[in-house]
Amino acid sequence: RIVVFGSLNADLSVQLPELPQAGQTVLGSGLFRSPGGKGANQAVAAAHATQRRGLPAAVRMVGRVGADDEGQLLRESLAAAGVDDSGVQIDREAPTGVALILVDDAGDNMIAVAPGANLTVGEADVAGAVAGLRPGDVVVCQLEVPVPAIRQLVRSARAVGARTVCNAAPAAALDPELLASLTVLVVNETEARHSLGLSVTTPPQAAQAAASAGCAVVVTLGSRGAVYATPDGDAGACPAPSVEAVDTVGAGDAFVGAFAVALTAGDGVAEAVTAGVAAGATAVTQLGARYYPHPPDPKSGDER
Ligand code: ADP
Repeated sequence: RIVVFGSLNADLSVQLPELPQAGQTVLGSGLFRSPGGKGANQAVAAAHATQRRGLPAAVRMVGRVGADDEGQLLRESLAAAGVDDSGVQIDREAPTGVALILVDDAGDNMIAVAPGANLTVGEADVAGAVAGLRPGDVVVCQLEVPVPAIRQLVRSARAVGARTVCNAAPAAALDPELLASLTVLVVNETEARHSLGLSVTTPPQAAQAAASAGCAVVVTLGSRGAVYATPDGDAGACPAPSVEAVDTVGAGDAFVGAFAVALTAGDGVAEAVTAGVAAGATAVTQLGARYYPHPPDPKSGDER
């Protein structure tokens, strides 16, 4: 099974003709409210990928929301997507995280996040995430919750023989010990520079990154797809299909969800990258961080 450990945010999006410069005001269209957060988006992406592939694997989300409407909305959206939300705790002290998202006509975006309850994720949540893990399970995390919790999670997951996929987003430097204890690091180009200190756009550069990090490295390259390498020297590239990009928010999350499901299904890194690239390309064709054209169960609907 898959456990996604990470953030839940209420996304507030406005579409604009162009992104504002500092000090500038730009008038856009109406406000679009949707459930988001890298963790929750990846859990939903994984649930859809699981159902699309007809796999029995269950997806469980572990994280924190506030005792407010947004928190309720987030939990409902997870349940509607078929994600087990029993690991999502309601924090009485902090509000649900909020992301303010600006998207321009070219599909580029700017995002500001007020993390709220995501910052209170800690030891108790790690214990909840690791409970019941079995060898071969896949644990997915990102960096929108405190890094000490991530470190603890990766260590505990590894101790029971589970595999770990860390999407090091938003961009941050990662210590060598954490990198070496991961199964797979998934980053975009910018995040690769921060987490690995390397520019990675080709398979040989990915191979160099994997050798120095001590884990498999996957770097997503937007419309150019992704490159990957494993520490034992397997490296390659997967181009993305040509699609009309409307909104790139959530492309990386769709990639990670589908990638993790492929690993659970027994795929190697190369095959899992192919699954991730296909899911990412689909995600950019519509507005919203969670877009799935064929919901497996019409009754569950789409949470947008
Ligand atoms: P992030 O959203 O984390 O910055 P990327 O922009 O690299 O990540 O996108 C993740 C994946 O989504 C890519 O590997 C690719 O498969 C897909 N993708 C993103 N943008 C496009 C695009 N313009 N056309 C086709 N696929 C895309």
